[in-house]
Formats: sequence, C-alpha cells, structure tokens
Amino acid sequence: MEASVHQITCDVVVVGSGLSGTTAALSAAEDGADVVLVSLGPLFSGSSFYPGTWGLGCVGPENTDDEDEFISTILEVGQNVPDPKLVSTLVHETPLALAALEQKGVKLTCPKHADEQEFIPCFDHKHRMWRGIQRKPYEQTISRLLHQSNVTIHSGLEAIELLVHPHCDLDSTPGLTSAPEKATTVCGVVCFDHNEDSPTAGQLIQINAGSVVLATGGSGGLFARRLTGYDVIGSAQGMATSVGASLTNIEFIQIMPGLIGAGEGTVFNEKIFRHVTLTNLQNNPVLPAQDTHKILEARSEHGPFTCERISREVDFALARAGDKGLLVRYAPKAAATTNSCAKSADINTTNELPEFVDVYFTWLYEHAGITINDTMRIAAYAHAANGGIAIDSDGFCGVDGLYACGECSGGVHGADRIGGLASASALVFGRRAGYAAAKHALHIGENRLRSHKENLSATTTYNTFEGIDAQTAALLTSHMQKTMSKNCLILRSSQSLDQAARELSLCLDTLNANATPTNEAVAYARAMRLRHQINHAQAIVAAATRRTHSLGAHCYTE
Ligand SMILES: Cc1cc2nc3c(=O)[nH]c(=O)nc-3n(C[C@H](O)[C@H](O)[C@H](O)COP(=O)(O)OP(=O)(O)OC[C@H]3O[C@@H](n4cnc5c(N)ncnc54)[C@H](O)[C@@H]3O)c2cc1C
Repeated sequence: MEASVHQITCDVVVVGSGLSGTTAALSAAEDGADVVLVSLGPLFSGSSFYPGTWGLGCVGPENTDDEDEFISTILEVGQNVPDPKLVSTLVHETPLALAALEQKGVKLTCPKHADEQEFIPCFDHKHRMWRGIQRKPYEQTISRLLHQSNVTIHSGLEAIELLVHPHCDLDSTPGLTSAPEKATTVCGVVCFDHNEDSPTAGQLIQINAGSVVLATGGSGGLFARRLTGYDVIGSAQGMATSVGASLTNIEFIQIMPGLIGAGEGTVFNEKIFRHVTLTNLQNNPVLPAQDTHKILEARSEHGPFTCERISREVDFALARAGDKGLLVRYAPKAAATTNSCAKSADINTTNELPEFVDVYFTWLYEHAGITINDTMRIAAYAHAANGGIAIDSDGFCGVDGLYACGECSGGVHGADRIGGLASASALVFGRRAGYAAAKHALHIGENRLRSHKENLSATTTYNTFEGIDAQTAALLTSHMQKTMSKNCLILRSSQSLDQAARELSLCLDTLNANATPTNEAVAYARAMRLRHQINHAQAIVAAATRRTHSLGAHCYTE
C-alpha cells in the first residue's frame, strides 16, 4: 500500500494563526521570506480570538523609567522561575511591538475613564501602560497586510509531524518520522488537511521549509474542561520534544473559574466574587465562616488560581466540588454602589451596580441569557499555559530550523503571570521569531532550498503509516483529558501525579497496541496527534512531580 503526500516548499512555515502566529508570519514576510501560514482553526483563531471576548488586554511598562521595576515585579510574581533575559526583552520591546501594530494601522484601545487608567493588572501592584487589542481592527488590518506580503494562508491544516534530518539535505526526500539520535535539522512540517471541500481533503501535505515557527497556543486540549480556543490542542509541544527541543515551566498552568451548565465554557469574572455567596449544591457554605468576606474579597483581585494568597480557599473549594461545581449567587446588599445602572432590562434589581458588575452581567445576558438574579454554577477550568517549548530571545528552540513563540513557548512567564503579558509576549516574540526564522531560511535558502523548490515534484508517495481508528482515538483522548483534569489541576499530590503517570502510560500503550498499518491519512493524523498530546501531558505530570513544593499556580498538597 502506498499513500500520496502533496508537497509545498517555502522559506518559512508558521504553524498557528493566533496573535503570535500572524505576527510571526508578517514579520518573516517583511524580511523577504516566502511564508506559508497554516492553522488548524481559521485565520485568526486560537485563544487569541476566543469567541465571546471583546479582545485582549496587553500591558507594558508605563514609560522607560518603569521598565526596571516592571522586570523585577514580573520576576517576583513569577517566583523567579522566568528567564530574566526573556523578561527583559519582553518589557523593553512591548512598547515597540504595540507601536509597530499602530503604525501598520491597527487601532488599539486606550484607557479613557479614571478607573481604567488606574486599573491594576492581575497579580501586579500598580497600574501600567495598558492597550486593548480588539478583534475586528486587528483582523481587518493584518489580513490585508498578510495578503499584500504574499503570505500563503492555509487554514484547516493540522500540523502532525515535524520533518527532520540528522543533517538536513533537501535533495533527498525527508522521512515522516522523527526520533532524533543525533543533532537534527528541522526541514518542514507534515500537515493533515481537514477541509472537506479542498482538492487535498483528508490527505497529507508536506511543507518543506528552511525554518518552522510553532505558534500553536497552550495546553488546553490536554484537559477535559478548558477555557482556551477549541483548536488549542496541545500537540505541538510533543512534536517539538520529538525532535530534541525542551519544555520549561510547563507545570504552571493557569486555572480559572468558569460557568458550567447554563453558559458552559463562559469565563466567570473574578471581580464579582466580592459580591456573591458561594455554596455547594446543597446550599451549604464552602468557605471558613470567619474569613468568608476576606477570602472572597481577595479572590476578586485575580483571575487565575494561585496558592500564594488566602483567596486559594475558593479554588480549593472548587477542586473539592469537582465536576458538580459550586453555586454562585449575586448578593446585591454586598455590592458597593456607583452611579451606573444595569443596562440589561432583564436584570430585575433596583440597586445601582458597580460598573464592572453591570458590564459583566449585561454581556453575560447577551452572550448566555443569564441574568444577575440567576444562580450560576462554576467549576475549575484549565486556561493559559505559563510554560512551553524553551526558547531564546529570538524564539529559537535549540534545534536547527525550529522556532516557537506565544503561548506554546516557555521561559517568559513563571509560577504566576501578570494579566496582559500573554498578548505582549505573543507580539514581542512573534516578531522576533518571525525575523529570526526568515534570516535562517534565507541564509540556507541560497544554498539548498531554492534549488530544491525547482526540482520538487508536486506529490510524493510513502509507504504505509501507523494509524488508529476513530473510536479508540476518541476514547483515549477523553481518558487522557479526564486524567489530567482529575489529577493534575488544582490540588496535586505525589499520589494523584503517580496515578496520572500510570493512566497516561496506559493510554500510550493502548495507542501503540491499536496502531495498525494503514494508508489512510486521517488514521495516521489521529495517531500522531494523540501520541504528541500524551507525550506533552506526561511531561507536565513529570514536571509537576519534580516540583515538590507549592509555587504560584502549582499547588502540591504534601
Ligand atoms: C478567554 C480568554 C481571555 C484571555 N484574555 C487575555 C488578556 O486579556 N490578556 C492576555 O495577555 N492574555 C489573555 N489570554 C491569553 C491569550 O489569549 C493567549 O495566551 C494568547 O492569545 C495566545 O496566542 P497564541 O498566538 O500563542 O496562541 P493561540 O491564539 O491560542 O493560537 C493558536 C493557533 O494554533 C493553531 N493550532 C494549534 N495546534 C495546531 C496544529 N497542530 N496544527 C496547526 N495549527 C494548530 C490554532 O488553530 C490557532 O490558530 C486570554 C485567553 C482566553 C482563552
């Protein structure tokens, strides 16, 4: 049996079209590279373009005098886990990256009202320079520029394997597997085409490139309940380690409260906590009686869980409640009042509401039909990853030809991350990775890539792949996700992590036992995705097991 694989050749292939991928693609093209941008989701997808949010907040230093203080605060909040060099690059270049966006014509939101101007980002202690990146203005301008720069865009393509050669020689046909024993060079990526109406639907596409930039987002896809883009599947981190890259700080995953049942998958605005009662499904309080107010007040100050503050009691209660979740009721008497009033006609209250409560519930009503009088159920969700593929300040992963940026990369953030730094990191390191990848590809391109382009045939045939059937893949994926949510979310212990390690290796064994030779690309893609996801999940469990004390987002209960 043989299967055909379609071929594309370019200087730089960028995988992922969220904020970091689109930034990297445009930057590489600006430097003269011939760029292909592929993504599992549509152009402008991933957590960057999560439906139902207005856009992304981005923070940077207030001015140059603020830079050193901001760097030390990021390191302090990150518990000295972040790489100081990456943090320094991030802080110095965020204003440049935002200015570059504005010069391109992307209109950014600036704080106007006093409370916005004085807004303190989550986990920070003072206000900073804040800009809002709104979806529409970003999409309109950047899609025009991507087209003007001749970036070839393929959405609906899932990267399933990196192409490597011990000593890359593009005159010979790259193989489809990659377990490097010696220094490797990444020469491209193999993708599966999910588009039903494309001529290559259900087939493999091999993209040969001088450089590959991974911009695939965080680890949400490894968890059963997640507040990340649906297309953030968390496989590329496993792909990167399969060619010799390292992962760093991956045990630090932001965990957020979100709605379950009505409004499932909707972010719960933490600022509301100071105005609510929190009970279990039997209506019994779940917080220590004497400190309830103090705990809820503290929990109102940050979105993701941290074990560093008394507010952790809320998240511990959520962890204990598990899938059932907790009940939240808005308690108007507790609310401080301002002059603003609820915009939604369905909010049946005469109380004047604090502005953010008003804004949140008005949005919640429009988004999910939930009013301020409804009892909400909340549970813990996996959210953004603070760690990922280890990079240097050019997004280089330490493997020739491989770069990463944005949430799939690691080292920029630590045990806790100040709110608004994920988008800043996507912009700063997206630019840097794009430029560095272009430079690398154009350098080798003169010697090898160009001649290869001319000689390459449109399709190549391969011997059969190892694939897996849809039902087994779905069962194993679900088991992996439940295992991670149950054992590696808020409360971690040596026992729960051992259990997770056992379950994950069982998943891998079952995958191997069920993988059979096939020429069906879809079966191959399933097997590769799952293998990389399980490898990534195993790496997270191993990292959490090694860190035997609690720190920020990682809570070790022994
Ligand atoms: C609801 C919500 C609100 C947030 N608010 C903020 C905020 O205000 N400020 C802030 O700083 N951060 C915020 N974050 C975090 C921030 O959005 C992300 O960290 C950041 O946008 C990630 O950008 P990215 O480009 O690295 O990845 P993403 O935007 O997640 O993009 C990933 C891309 O990779 C593609 N992809 C994934 N796997 C593959 C594969 N195998 N093959 C091909 N393509 C693949 C996806 O289709 C997608 O295009 C928020 C996140 C969420 C979910």
